Amino acid sequence: MDGYRQRCVAIIGGGAAGMMAAIYAVQNGADVTLFEKNPYLGKKLGITGKGRCNVTNDCDNGEFLKNVIANPKFLYASINNLSTSDVKDFFENLGVPLKTERGRRVFPVSDKAADIVNALKNCLRDYGVKVVHEKVISIKASENRVTGLITDRGEYDFDAVICATGGASYPMTGSDGDGYRFAKELGIEVSPLFPSLVPLETVEDVSSNMGLSLKNVTLKAVDNKTGKTVFNELGEMLFTHFGLTGPLVLSASSHMRHMEKGRYTVYIDFKPALDTNELDKRVLSDFSKNINKDFANALGHLLPSKIIPYIVKRSGIPPDAKVNEITKAQRKAFIDTLKGLSLEIKGFRPLREAIVTAGGISVKEINPSDMSSRKYKGLYFAGEVIDVDAYTGGYNLQIAFSTGALAGMHAAWEE
Ligand SMILES: Cc1cc2nc3c(=O)[nH]c(=O)nc-3n(C[C@H](O)[C@H](O)[C@H](O)COP(=O)(O)OP(=O)(O)OC[C@H]3O[C@@H](n4cnc5c(N)ncnc54)[C@H](O)[C@@H]3O)c2cc1C
Repeated sequence: MDGYRQRCVAIIGGGAAGMMAAIYAVQNGADVTLFEKNPYLGKKLGITGKGRCNVTNDCDNGEFLKNVIANPKFLYASINNLSTSDVKDFFENLGVPLKTERGRRVFPVSDKAADIVNALKNCLRDYGVKVVHEKVISIKASENRVTGLITDRGEYDFDAVICATGGASYPMTGSDGDGYRFAKELGIEVSPLFPSLVPLETVEDVSSNMGLSLKNVTLKAVDNKTGKTVFNELGEMLFTHFGLTGPLVLSASSHMRHMEKGRYTVYIDFKPALDTNELDKRVLSDFSKNINKDFANALGHLLPSKIIPYIVKRSGIPPDAKVNEITKAQRKAFIDTLKGLSLEIKGFRPLREAIVTAGGISVKEINPSDMSSRKYKGLYFAGEVIDVDAYTGGYNLQIAFSTGALAGMHAAWEE
């Protein structure tokens, strides 16, 4: 083609977004170099979904956008360009059969996140993408145009650079916030970072319950300022030395967007299948079989033994009160505790323990139609580094894949 020069595209970050960006850039005719500071690609991707990788969610675009917490409209073009069913087809075409589980969560049939990582790696190799294991130190720019990048080993010129460095959570995976620094150095606005999908610290000391895992409980979270219930779901949770974690708790945390001590209270319903009257009957029946026992020794059929001392304390009934002496009012207090143990939230655990980083490169700085920077020609952003985040269910990886694909495609084309 006369006058045609292949565009040289650099991608910073060999995670979900960076690898997808590389594949789309090379498919669209670019000469692509992928920079990854770890000795291997997809370190975080390899631990997603507890090593099973919840790769996307089997939902339509409208439903996907409903599950994006921050800036869903910004993702309109990217999800239209690469939808959840496109991501499914993409991996199945690369030879990774997928299955859909509860909540439309999509996983590899093998239950191995490594299969997703390897599929992407093999695809990069087959397309001849150059992978360079160097740490990028900064992005070079001159007169509002990106010109290349500097790594810990050298300086390189490129026509376009895609910043796909991930967030700042789980920093041992390599995503430790470099992309935010690159942006700030270029005068690009970064919205404040905070953790999402993160364990919660409680004001009350629940350390005596540490290690106790509860299944089929309901966790309700209330915003004490507005009085609104921000989360109410059935599932699994775990007590820790600092408070609470587990799937229900992580999900609840992403609905707590105004975290400060005392702003939120969670209520645990230990017996969601029974209403208050039914539970009262059940308790009375248990009590009738243990009439001469101490209260604390009569609860073995109702609760896991580890939590009995804590619940007894919170019910306000003396542990050595004889079951036949317990008054109706005391029984009501006990049932109220079982149906809604309240725990005031002190705060999130630190960002490094969060599944995703909320905040990031401000969406005002990026054109949503192609992921390009509004300030610098040739600069693109993709993945978690952008100020977008979603609930659990495969939506965060879908964000990475969709924004990566759109950035890769456009970075490959002459402007
Ligand atoms: C434990 C855990 C489980 C999760 N499970 C799921 C799940 O099942 N489903 C889901 O949808 N989401 C899940 N997530 C979230 C999901 O993993 C992320 O949202 C997603 O990986 C973001 O992709 P990314 O490519 O933007 O960033 P990352 O995957 O973090 O990749 C960024 C890459 O950039 C590299 N990098 C950073 N700085 C530099 C630099 N200066 N030079 C060179 N390279 C650099 C890093 O080493 C890293 O490899 C999980 C997250 C965690 C922590």
